[in-house]
Amino acid sequence: MRCLAHRFLNLVTKIPLFALSDQKFFPLNKSFHEITVYCGPKCIRPTFECRHNPPPSPHQSQFCNTCRCGPAATPLDRQIPCHKGLTAARQINTVAGLLDMLEEPDVTTQLSDTVALLGDLIAFPTVSELSNLDMIAYLAHLLEQSGAQVDIYHDDIGHKANLFATIGPQKDGGIVLSGHSDVVPVAEQDWSSPPFEMIEHDGRLYGRGTCDMKGFIAAAVSMAPYFNQIVRDRPVHFAFTYDEEVGCFGARALVESLREKGITPGVAIIGEPTSMRIIEGHKGCYEYTTRFSGLAGHGSSPDRGVNAVEYAVRYVTRLLSLKEELRKRSPESSRFAPPWSTINTGSLIGGVAHNVIASHAQVEWEMRPVQASDAEFVKHDLHSFCEEELLPAMRAICPDAEIATEVIGEVEGLEPADSNEARNIVMELTGSNSADVVPFGTEAGIFQSFGMSAVVCGPGSIEQAHKPDEYVSIDQLQQCLDMLGRLGRKLAA
Ligand SMILES: [Zn+2]
Repeated sequence: MRCLAHRFLNLVTKIPLFALSDQKFFPLNKSFHEITVYCGPKCIRPTFECRHNPPPSPHQSQFCNTCRCGPAATPLDRQIPCHKGLTAARQINTVAGLLDMLEEPDVTTQLSDTVALLGDLIAFPTVSELSNLDMIAYLAHLLEQSGAQVDIYHDDIGHKANLFATIGPQKDGGIVLSGHSDVVPVAEQDWSSPPFEMIEHDGRLYGRGTCDMKGFIAAAVSMAPYFNQIVRDRPVHFAFTYDEEVGCFGARALVESLREKGITPGVAIIGEPTSMRIIEGHKGCYEYTTRFSGLAGHGSSPDRGVNAVEYAVRYVTRLLSLKEELRKRSPESSRFAPPWSTINTGSLIGGVAHNVIASHAQVEWEMRPVQASDAEFVKHDLHSFCEEELLPAMRAICPDAEIATEVIGEVEGLEPADSNEARNIVMELTGSNSADVVPFGTEAGIFQSFGMSAVVCGPGSIEQAHKPDEYVSIDQLQQCLDMLGRLGRKLAA
């Protein structure tokens, strides 16, 4: 007996073209041997035809990566009740059911597409130290198939890339859906299942990156065909970056690429996991390693050497006084905890033995500014302190003495603003009337410093990010799709 997949596929191919061109019903991604049906808020693509020979094992838990077909013998297992309380298969099993479906009021979401695509994305092990090019190429292909104009910007050595895509009119002021493609490592973590093979259990999708933050990317890309059908008023952009987890280098390069091309979007929605809460502010995170090179000598003649440890201690003492200064600079309306910018000295290493003048020392430290001006204040003060006090004293004995600060990462904060279009739009889309601030950093501050309004809102909880057995719930993905569906309707002509 033929499986429902094949029966459905036959049925679909008999639908007259005018029906296929209707917003509510059209085929997609033919190169993946799929037919996609948009039939209502919670209906899903009923099934796929697999062209694999031999077909995937019925026992495999992972969706087929090439055609996203799922276990061959159990195509219906992946079905989720539609908004009518029926399974999609029952709905489309008869012509009457199909016509019913065409009567549905509006196109909104594509949960099954999102889940299937998320499975594919999890299978790309895009740990920050590895290349993300395969995943970016895959997303570019899907977006192009959906009618998007896609640009790919490689890093200096061509090992990684950012993707920027546009659907809708080519004009400024568009809305960016932003996500990072990289994930944190899984080494030394105790996972219950292979981290790069997504599994579904109890309404949750497990795998590295499911919540941070491929779930949002999958939802956004799954909505691309819909956006292409409906968005007329203002462009929707997709911005997928590299190296967020190691210092937001991709996002910084991306805004430079946009600047060079003269593209000026207006709003950024960063889909980091916030349990779909709206986040309008977070502190920045600036990390540095400052190295001191002095002159070694016998401990009995301290004046004949340059003790790097002692200069490092003076530097740390300066950090402590700056820490106190920052408290006084705290903005009155600050909602952060603590409300001021902070400094932490994480490590101080140097020297070799009791009786040797230390020739080398290093300080690892960070600051978390609540406002960009605090970061500038600290950097300016330290620069003057080194140039005017420490280095002249060190070089009076050893001209080669040196203080060098390496920037480990400078992730701008997202400063809450009274007027914030991104916040207003996402409040309208989610029905929420509050916005919070959080302690963790995102790429939002980079978009904000590029002149855009920005907000963080995405599926899944930060509690699950970076941990073993990371997951996103299907319910959270649905909420995200609902938000994106409303965005599409808002931008319709
Ligand atoms: Zn993230």
